Amino acid sequence: MELPEIMILAGQMEEELVGKRVVRVDVENVKCLNVPMEEFRAGALDKEISYVRPRGKWVFIGLDPGHVLLFNTGMGADVVYFEDESRLPEKYHIKFLLDDGTGFTVRVWWFCYLHLVPEDGLDGHKLTRDLGPSPLEDGFTLDHFRGLLRGRRGGVKSFLTNQRNVAGIGNVYIQDILFGAGVHPLRKIPTLTDADVEALYDSMKAVLTESLAHGGLTYERDFYGRNGGYGKEQYRVAYRPGEACPACGAPIEKIRTGSTSSFICPRCQPLG
Ligand SMILES: [Zn+2]
Repeated sequence: MELPEIMILAGQMEEELVGKRVVRVDVENVKCLNVPMEEFRAGALDKEISYVRPRGKWVFIGLDPGHVLLFNTGMGADVVYFEDESRLPEKYHIKFLLDDGTGFTVRVWWFCYLHLVPEDGLDGHKLTRDLGPSPLEDGFTLDHFRGLLRGRRGGVKSFLTNQRNVAGIGNVYIQDILFGAGVHPLRKIPTLTDADVEALYDSMKAVLTESLAHGGLTYERDFYGRNGGYGKEQYRVAYRPGEACPACGAPIEKIRTGSTSSFICPRCQPLG
């Protein structure tokens, strides 16, 4: 999941869960946890869910009083709401039951993080304390974005997908973000013009907002088990090697960029 899917999931979780009390926690996949099972249970049980917030690829769940649950779905996970325990999915690894009989289950596909952290210990949580801002949050202005890029030397793709710089963009959305801005993934940050930076900023917002409006990626599911509507039809160059660029008609290329693949139009996104 990337930012739009996490925002959708967190919004739905907030709607359904806030104000309810945790009465039971079952965790089958203890590898997700950062503390022993008993400690986890003691920290979560009888707490009221006070908020649910998206933060990059993470969901922060307030457990009042005293704790925050930090949740990351890894390479994908089904996080599904249930209205009562007679309607559970067939397979799941984690279950939270709440005081009104509702709750949610999590089915982990590859790995996940379900970390219980004391409210005053968030600064010590290594995986989330250095997260950068999300491109769709209020304070993320063009000036703020320019500030993030100032003095940086690396390639633009690796910068934008590093969660410490900007949180929430992964290898799906980055493709069309770069294409929309006419920027090659391997362009070095110091070579970006003011116009390039502005185009990247606008493109980031446009691509993520469009996906949000479609309910996120088609292969990810929301809190009600529904798939999103943003898929290949919406992709412009992403995962379309050999097809015609929607802007100029040149064939889209798949190239290696470090440890990841990138899809580009060589004409619209020249390297220099
Ligand atoms: Zn093109």
